[in-house]
Amino acid sequence: MHYLVCSNCGHLNEVNNEFVEFCFKCKKKMDSSFSSWQIQNPEKTFEEYKRLVCISEEEAPQVALKPKRKFRLWLILALTIATFAVMYTVGYRIGSYYFTESTQKIEKELAGFCTEINRSCPTMIDQITRLDGALIIPPKNDQV
Ligand SMILES: [Zn+2]
Repeated sequence: MHYLVCSNCGHLNEVNNEFVEFCFKCKKKMDSSFSSWQIQNPEKTFEEYKRLVCISEEEAPQVALKPKRKFRLWLILALTIATFAVMYTVGYRIGSYYFTESTQKIEKELAGFCTEINRSCPTMIDQITRLDGALIIPPKNDQV
């Protein structure tokens, strides 16, 4: 990335295309824009312009670039927190929905099994074992 220093306010403007004419900060026309430079150097290319007129990322003073990086860091941090919050909420809702759903489903299925077994009770399973019936015993946590 190359930057063009604004002669008016000193802002470092990113030169990502040939049409960077106005300063992003003070909105004034920069006299070292590519179009005005090319009038004096008609045989030269945009790449030469960037190399001769603009300053590269390595040359750019770190102080001028810092606020943008800091802002990006905050943006990434905010997005990460927001993503986690959304994931947590969605995950919790889906989790509780399916858990409740499956518990009710299992209880219903068990009750169905019991009814079916009890229909044919009491019955002799073998010569000495008699099945009187089936019943659902709730988990110990529910009995408290
Ligand atoms: Zn400016």
